[in-house]
Amino acid sequence: SRVVVAVDGPAGSGKSSVSRAAARALGYEFLDTGAAYRALAWLGLDRGIDFDDEDAIVSLLDELGDGISTDPDDLRVTIGGTDVTEDIRQPRVSKVVSAVARVPEVRTRLNEGFRSRLNAPGRPGIVAEGRDITTVVAPDAPVRVLLTADEGVRIQRRRAELTDQSAADVARSVTDRDRKDSKVVDFMTAAEGVTTLDSTDLSFDETVDAMVALVRS
Ligand code: C5P
Repeated sequence: SRVVVAVDGPAGSGKSSVSRAAARALGYEFLDTGAAYRALAWLGLDRGIDFDDEDAIVSLLDELGDGISTDPDDLRVTIGGTDVTEDIRQPRVSKVVSAVARVPEVRTRLNEGFRSRLNAPGRPGIVAEGRDITTVVAPDAPVRVLLTADEGVRIQRRRAELTDQSAADVARSVTDRDRKDSKVVDFMTAAEGVTTLDSTDLSFDETVDAMVALVRS
């Protein structure tokens, strides 16, 4: 079976961009598990469901399908043929995604899908990132990394991505989401055997190099 690199961390830690660049450098695939939660949240908004209604959320799982590509050079998310790659990053999706992620049945079903992607034939390795990859999805992965950065730095990085939003809105969305998500899974402290990679004082390239070095060591 292939090498699995499990990466967790809070919002704005650079998980997605760093993991993707590391996957590319290693010739591996890349699995953004947050994209699945976001796609489900997008579907809920599209259908106008009540996000307090767990059954309504669960009933969307069958429609979600398997539309997340794992090619780091061509990341695409589709639902029933509709390309939602950009849409799932919208603030309105970020705002409701935690409500979807706290439903146990959602986590169980998505995790089954993630594990089959990790085990599927393909490139010699796959970098999977999220909130519970090192602890729940792939606790036996040979490389497990918790990517962190000080909260102020994470907010700064998000602000650079979301230039159309006010500084206060970006700060609030990062801290709110982390607070909600931490109630479901602990991604702020490294589990036993998980290497902490703190990118507070590192450039993007230095962080990618550090992750690649952990895989090659
Ligand atoms: O990684 P990203 O910030 O895009 O994830 C979006 C949301 O998906 C998170 O805020 C969290 O609610 C949920 N998520 C999760 N478990 C994962 C990945 C993401 O609960 N493994």
